[in-house]
Amino acid sequence: MLLQGFRGVGGALYAAPMTDTTTDSTAFGKNDLVLYELRNGVATITLNRPSAANAQDRAVTYALDEAFSRFATDDNAAVAILRGEGKHFSSGHDTSPHADFTTNFPLRTLWWEHKSMATAEGIMAFEEEAWLGMCFRWRELPKPTIALVTGACIGGGLALAWACDFIVASTDAFFSDPVLTMGCPGIEFFCHPYALGTRRAKEFLFTGERLPAQRAYELGMVNHVWERDEIVEQTTKLAERIAERSRFALALAKKAVNVAEEGMGLRTGIEHAFALHSLSHAHNLHTCGMAVQVMDPKALRKASE
Ligand code: ZN
Repeated sequence: MLLQGFRGVGGALYAAPMTDTTTDSTAFGKNDLVLYELRNGVATITLNRPSAANAQDRAVTYALDEAFSRFATDDNAAVAILRGEGKHFSSGHDTSPHADFTTNFPLRTLWWEHKSMATAEGIMAFEEEAWLGMCFRWRELPKPTIALVTGACIGGGLALAWACDFIVASTDAFFSDPVLTMGCPGIEFFCHPYALGTRRAKEFLFTGERLPAQRAYELGMVNHVWERDEIVEQTTKLAERIAERSRFALALAKKAVNVAEEGMGLRTGIEHAFALHSLSHAHNLHTCGMAVQVMDPKALRKASE
């Protein structure tokens, strides 16, 4: 009965907590690349490729999208925690020569299939879908998400963390975007100025430094820093507390903040940076024959002259 879903508190109506003892455990992708576990209203989504420090290839990306889709449609799931199996959260995009570009996956944006990474068109179509479209899609998920970062969070790992509402980190965690050394201005989902402030973002990009969790906390990019042996318990407690709130009010609050961030230029900034990022891949293709720079920067500068 409908009224059972509501309870009156202080004369106002609040939605009943969604939490219950329902549990669910599912694996997505070939070789269980992403795991989904539901307990007490909290879905834990685990990147399960520890042998590659949870590097993201297409298979991982689509498995992760399936897990987020499950979370979005699962009425028993109120909050999601995204974590990495093993020592590291994620080492970023899988740029190894063995990365799979031939398997068909159900495209989530309306860009066409992108089987060739040997043209600027192929690279842009791929990255619009996998590295940009997916992150916007997950960012807009109307339920709260928490990135639980341990160890390395590098390159594309940052994109996953930034797509979440909160970032919590273990004391040994660090953040880095080293792609400038590969001839690109930064990763595709370019949140750096919004997450770090403009001057700090520039230093982060120009030097490719490893930003320790504590420093990221001081800069406001990270919500909490906890010891590794307590971070799962603390994050779960935080998630369970949020899971007791009204689903709709949470969705509204999330949207209000996200739209405010877009009003500060986030989407325009990311789209502009992505255009420059695509230019860098085209330049690298032209000068080095690959999407990322493989020439010594000095030799490259000389060639440009
Ligand atoms: Zn790229």
